Amino acid sequence: MLGLFVASGCTWGQPSPQEVYARSLQPSQIGPVATATTARRVLTARVWADRGHRRGVLTWQVRLQEQVAAANRVLAATLGARIQVVSMQSWPHEGGRADLQVDLTALHERDAGEGVDIVIGLVSPLAVLSPALHDAGRAQMLGKHMVLRGIEDAQEHVTLRRALDEFSAEERNKLYQARMRHREVSLLLHEVGHLLGAVHMWPAQSLMNAQYSVEQSGFAPENLTAMKMALDARTTDVVSTPESQAALINYLSGIDAQYIDKESKAWVVARLGGAPARSNEERTQVDPSLTPQAKDERLQKVQQMLQRGEVEAGWQLLQPQLKQGPPTPGVLGLACELTVRRDPSMPEALQYCSALAKQVPKPPGHHLLLAHALQGAGQLSDALKAAQGAEKRLASDVQQAQPTLWTALAQTYQRLGAITWAGQAAAHGLPDVAGQIAIYCRQVRRAAWLDSAGLKPEQEPAYVGGARTLLDALRAGKSKQIDVRAAQLAKDFPGAPGPQIAVCEHYASRKRWAASDRACRRLVKLHPKQAKGHVALAVSAFARGRPSRAVASLQRAVKLSPGTKGAWTLLYSAYQATGKAKKAGQLAKRYEARFGEPLR
Ligand SMILES: [Zn+2]
Repeated sequence: MLGLFVASGCTWGQPSPQEVYARSLQPSQIGPVATATTARRVLTARVWADRGHRRGVLTWQVRLQEQVAAANRVLAATLGARIQVVSMQSWPHEGGRADLQVDLTALHERDAGEGVDIVIGLVSPLAVLSPALHDAGRAQMLGKHMVLRGIEDAQEHVTLRRALDEFSAEERNKLYQARMRHREVSLLLHEVGHLLGAVHMWPAQSLMNAQYSVEQSGFAPENLTAMKMALDARTTDVVSTPESQAALINYLSGIDAQYIDKESKAWVVARLGGAPARSNEERTQVDPSLTPQAKDERLQKVQQMLQRGEVEAGWQLLQPQLKQGPPTPGVLGLACELTVRRDPSMPEALQYCSALAKQVPKPPGHHLLLAHALQGAGQLSDALKAAQGAEKRLASDVQQAQPTLWTALAQTYQRLGAITWAGQAAAHGLPDVAGQIAIYCRQVRRAAWLDSAGLKPEQEPAYVGGARTLLDALRAGKSKQIDVRAAQLAKDFPGAPGPQIAVCEHYASRKRWAASDRACRRLVKLHPKQAKGHVALAVSAFARGRPSRAVASLQRAVKLSPGTKGAWTLLYSAYQATGKAKKAGQLAKRYEARFGEPLR
């Protein structure tokens, strides 16, 4: 089956559904490529890896060099440039916990970028990858700094194992590695694009699409032109001059291809100092009615900092305002958004965002911010209610289609683990993002055994959260955690067999019979109609030299799942081992009648 991705000329019949699916998972080749050593322009880079990254990505130095080398082949072919890593150091920082903007600011404080062209900060990977590239990396527009997360997707291992169970572990691992490497290289190139003034594009193939896709394969010509202009104007000391910025603004303003994300373009132009314009993305964050009036310059300055992503500086500047008695709605709006973007788990986030949603309840965006803060505070069910509040307001405003807000709502549901609602909200949102969210939802459904769980949508966040921690424990093989989490899920969601099956099979496959007996008995007790529990108990009884105990379990299994040949074979052996030759003979006859082949 290894030849699957190359040999398609002569096929024997149709590919299996899994083969077709595996092909769709294969990432695109990013190109064009050239030997990086031919690149004329060298961009020197200093790299800092924070604690979480060093812990989470073993041999991070090697991985980074590979990531850079792969990106260099594309940069050499398209821009005649390459990145040269001049140093890799430990960064005494614990990043990747909240918005990456916080890490970008911290990186700037650590290393202003003197004497190099690029400063790269590596922070902890996300436990489960988000389709939004900006959750995985962030770069300073026409600057020197970028932060990148490690790319690991524990969930995807599980997803692939379940979806491609006919493939060997080696084949699945190869596919997983190819997908992660593609993602790493796409991310690095996307952020280099931002350093060089590229704007977001809609096609899935574009490296500058804000949503990651396995189809990403290159830069659009408009972005390459912009990047060449920025590169030509750039020296190690000066990333851009007023003249080069003006030329870039002029160029970007003039391009009008259908597939350019116009809001991203307007935002970049505004950020470079061109005509003022704000992206929809930012408009959703703070309601325009709350924008501080010109009468208060300080608030306006904070607002601008927020737009530039200077969260830390904005927060500091707002402090005196917050200490002066009860805040106005305008101050509250800024305080809520700044705290959420800084770190949604800080207590102030909840304080300001609750007050904001209470005082100015109409804008749906305020309820989305509140949901974020509530999630940060660990109050999942209230966060879900806040998101529903946002949805109610969005749905009732029929005069105005607000796809960006619907997408933000879908992402909020997604973060909370409300998978059904995330898919529904995404359908009203930006079409390209909707596809990504749908893929994510499918992955979670499969990995967390959601389809068999029989839950109401509002139960999903708690269940998915529990399933996620169980999956983590299973992956790490930590028995104590596995048992505690499985028992908790059994208590909270007695109707969901998936977690119990996974734990029973986990121990059984490792031949840990005492543990598997315990887990499989719980499975059989809660879900007597799941044949897998009965089979696992029988296997354990056999292994412990008690075939008589296996008989009843296997009779049950054959009855429940008569199409499973393995259960028949085991029952036959159990009959023979316990001296029930007659029963064994009868079983063999029934088997032959059913499957048209002899039982062995
Ligand atoms: Zn981007």
